[in-house]
Amino acid sequence: MESVPVKALGVLLGKYDLFYGIPICLGGGKYNIWDLAALTAFTAVEKILLSDSFGYPLQLEPEYCNGIIMTRDKALWKKAIDITKELAAGSGASRIITVKKPLTYFVSGLKCIVCGKEYQEKKELLTCPACGEEGILDVEYDYDVILRYFTKTVLARNPDRSHWRYLPLMPVKDAGKIPPLRIGGSPLYDARVLAKALGVRRLFIKDDGINPTASLKDRASSVGVARALFERASAVTCASTGNAASSLAGSAASAGLSSFIFVPENAPQAKIAQLLIFGANMFVVKGSYEDAFDLSMYCAREFGFYNRNSGINPYLVEGKKTVSLEMCEQLNWNAPDYVFVAVGDGCTIAGVWKGFLEMRRLGFIKSLPFMVGVQAKGAMPVMKAWESGKPMRPVSPHTLADSIAVGTPRNWRKAVRAVRDSGGFYMSVSDEEILSAMKLLGGACGIFGEPAGVTGLAGIVKAAQSNLIPAKATVATIITGNGLKDIAAAIKTSAKPHLIPVDYSYVKKIIRKILL
Ligand SMILES: [Zn+2]
Repeated sequence: MESVPVKALGVLLGKYDLFYGIPICLGGGKYNIWDLAALTAFTAVEKILLSDSFGYPLQLEPEYCNGIIMTRDKALWKKAIDITKELAAGSGASRIITVKKPLTYFVSGLKCIVCGKEYQEKKELLTCPACGEEGILDVEYDYDVILRYFTKTVLARNPDRSHWRYLPLMPVKDAGKIPPLRIGGSPLYDARVLAKALGVRRLFIKDDGINPTASLKDRASSVGVARALFERASAVTCASTGNAASSLAGSAASAGLSSFIFVPENAPQAKIAQLLIFGANMFVVKGSYEDAFDLSMYCAREFGFYNRNSGINPYLVEGKKTVSLEMCEQLNWNAPDYVFVAVGDGCTIAGVWKGFLEMRRLGFIKSLPFMVGVQAKGAMPVMKAWESGKPMRPVSPHTLADSIAVGTPRNWRKAVRAVRDSGGFYMSVSDEEILSAMKLLGGACGIFGEPAGVTGLAGIVKAAQSNLIPAKATVATIITGNGLKDIAAAIKTSAKPHLIPVDYSYVKKIIRKILL
């Protein structure tokens, strides 16, 4: 789909004193409600007027969208201004603001987390050229400009519940390239019974397993696919223990883009099934995650595929951070005291922390949470690096939590930094503790998390028992993936079902025993 830059002009209609016109790009001249919800999400205006490519203004009702006027070329733009002025005069608007440069994109540059060098964005630039693959970059934004029109009030008026409601804080230039799957907006449950059982004041469970491909990784992959489409990449590639792969294949499929995915042999069947159904070109590597990673890096270089490896691609963390933005908004612009996050590659905890930092930078929340990184005992190189203060040393991972079974975490620096800067800590849990958290979450909350998805909760249980967190604390964790992705682990931890003959008295006897 071809995309054409659209100039925009806004007008205030009615009771509001500000309007922001947002120049945008829309795909193929199609204007639909879905596009508008994402694009005009942060305009606090009551009506929207569109000028189509023939110059006829289209008017949409306020319940569908907010307000914006846009047109494709200078002549039409002038015409739109005239129409706007007329309407503004008629409705008593106090001010018209025209905007001449794109305002949906606020990335100011990239900064190396190792040497601190700053870069302007460039198509091929993913890691710091001076530091190599170790030089992971941070995406920086012009927050002062964002603040001018991205406010709590504006968000409150935004009907879009997907994570694109935070578009000004995301590195996506062309909203017309956003893949259509609905991502984010996951529920935050106030698990009162569980909180009481564990002895903490409040416990919030963010269930990200409800995303389209059933994991938090959808947040990152959707940003990756939007950027791949913008860069006109012929395909996307990644290596993954499962979830990043299935989410990338899903988002790519929804946008009509091919994907080349490398998974290690030990990826659970359900994740492989997802890849096959999403039509990915799939390679099961007879080797580890690290081997799969190297192969995918090679293909990105060799064939010019868009590289979605979150360990090195700085933009993916920007998708992941939306989980924290949502959490703050769901808690009425507050952060929990502690946030427990399962750590594998280190990208998720880095993203979650960045989200909270940005919410405070914008003044949306007052205090930051302590970040607690939870690793599986059989794969805890990030925890070791945090403890020793020395560079990460690769390990050979052994844990049933496949999504965090990472021996060479690419993003360990950001993961260590998140915990250190927040004043939190790292801890490890055994596979048994992970399985028991899985059962606890299912039984107490009706949420089915995969092993890595409940590792944060396993950390909370252990931390509460060991008095690592105060009883008055508000604690939160993110269920990063749905349990249906790995039923083998679930069956392992659960009680056996009752195998019965068709015999009423037999059933009666068993149920009586259960009810006792
Ligand atoms: Zn560097």
